[in-house]
Amino acid sequence: MTTAQALLEVQDLKKYFPVQKGVLRRTVGYVKAVDGVSFRLQPGETLGIVGESGCGKSTLARTIMRVLEPTAGKILLDGQDISQLSGKALRRIRRKFQMVFQDPYASLNPRMSVQDIIAEPLVVNGLVAARDIPAVVADLLEKVGLKADDRQRYPHEFSGGQRQRIGIARAIAVQPRLIVADEAVSALDVSIQAQILNLMQGLKQELGLSYVFISHNLAVVRYISDQVGVMYLGHLVELTTKQALYQQPLHPYSEALLSAALEPSRKHKRERILLRGDVPNPAHPPTGCPFHTRCPKVMDVCRQSRPTLREAAPGHWVACHLH
Ligand code: SF4
Repeated sequence: MTTAQALLEVQDLKKYFPVQKGVLRRTVGYVKAVDGVSFRLQPGETLGIVGESGCGKSTLARTIMRVLEPTAGKILLDGQDISQLSGKALRRIRRKFQMVFQDPYASLNPRMSVQDIIAEPLVVNGLVAARDIPAVVADLLEKVGLKADDRQRYPHEFSGGQRQRIGIARAIAVQPRLIVADEAVSALDVSIQAQILNLMQGLKQELGLSYVFISHNLAVVRYISDQVGVMYLGHLVELTTKQALYQQPLHPYSEALLSAALEPSRKHKRERILLRGDVPNPAHPPTGCPFHTRCPKVMDVCRQSRPTLREAAPGHWVACHLH
């Protein structure tokens, strides 16, 4: 992790959900969906976050975006801690970071025209005069590969891929510096996924954007990311460059994910590693290393003590007693 001013720095971020029981709704425990996640994202970089469903990656995205209140930890955007901001101060800074959602069907209001959908954040923030809105929206639509004339149409008239383009146009309308994309292409056909990923890559160059890209799909994350973080049970267990992770994963969980998901190249032949069992219940996580109940390399120490994220090689961070 370099010391240059990061665009986004997440420090020991936690998001716990209370587990309540009985008529009095007494809190009897917590689901630790995000439990001490830290990373830095430099301007112009894309950080991919991967993991199985239920590992906490979508909660992490929503907590960074302040859609969910953090339980603890800091979220620094351009050096400013936004984890405690509220009201006007939070709305003002929200312009800098926008979100693209998984479901382009649900995230667009079906009763609003495309122009109203895209212009809404511009109007709310008082960024564009009413008379200029049609031209600004036309320009945004062309940037995302749609036609200027599409602005008078409604979401149901578009395909899934086109709707995601509308969602992206809305996200870039306020000229953000960071976009958090939560499973942004998972609901789309494979051929359309590639088009949307290419669009996002192009916009990154053109507009100087940074992304936090959340996905369960390792191939998608490999395509779009510079750095990749692997999440398991609310923890980041490995964090490094895309090249290092995909060529030489250090954490047994990353090894297993990669062995199951990617075609091994001739140069990097990997045995397929079958993981035993399911992800444990996050309300009752295992003691010690959260992965020890499924790890093929488990040792005695793993059941007692939780490994912290350490730099095992330059720029390659891993939370495992083997390293
Ligand atoms: Fe496996 Fe132990 Fe490493 Fe956890 S700390 S991943 S159980 S070897």
